[in-house]
Amino acid sequence: MSDQDNLLDQAKDLAARAERVAVLSGAGISAESGLPTFRTSQSGLWEQFDPETLATPQAWEKDHQMVWAWYLWRNSLVRDVAPNEAHKALGDWEKYAHVAVTTQNVDDLHERGGSTAVQHVHGTLFNFICSRCRKQYPEQVELPTEEVLRAEPPACPHCGSPIRPDIVWFGEQLPKEPWNNGVIAAQTCDIYLVVGTSAVVQPAATLPRIAQQSGAKVIEINPKRTPESSLCDVSLRMSATEALPILLEARAATRL
Ligand SMILES: [Zn+2]
Repeated sequence: MSDQDNLLDQAKDLAARAERVAVLSGAGISAESGLPTFRTSQSGLWEQFDPETLATPQAWEKDHQMVWAWYLWRNSLVRDVAPNEAHKALGDWEKYAHVAVTTQNVDDLHERGGSTAVQHVHGTLFNFICSRCRKQYPEQVELPTEEVLRAEPPACPHCGSPIRPDIVWFGEQLPKEPWNNGVIAAQTCDIYLVVGTSAVVQPAATLPRIAQQSGAKVIEINPKRTPESSLCDVSLRMSATEALPILLEARAATRL
């Protein structure tokens, strides 16, 4: 039996017994749906622009129409892909255990995969708030039918300022409520799954440590070795779509 077989057996055993499961997910799980990662996503009209300079309050100040058009385009990229077997396994897992997902992803693939408790610590592409008074925008946002480099965002019904995506831009603080819920999930779970993220971006990287200190076992699922690998209890060199259905099956086969 190889080390990896042995580790998979350990992970299945932990998954089978866990009543409370918490998950930290990152770009890797969405990439398996064919969604390009933040840094590899620039194509077409947007190829010439650096995403790190567009996702900033400074870019919004300078040219909010361009930043808005870029987010509409990113929004359409997400609309073009479907949740994969990993997202669906986490959704189905709710039939057997309490599952709390904390994600660094701004897409809605976890929700479309059936997860009902998803905390977006970096915000989400599908919520919109006023750039000035920060109130939620209650209407649907129409996507343009073709790629454009500029578009005027709708005006806030309360103060008339342009609305913006409810995304955490570089230099902005994480939203309090999703973050606090992510911490509580880490403190109260039996197993903590780190999926498709190198977990090096702070402060999300502290969540697996909080889980461990609270007595949970941390299981990493990532095809590549990451800085998290040596810290967690079980590190599986597998993709999320391979590993999560196997762990779910172990849980589903256990009647507690
Ligand atoms: Zn407003």
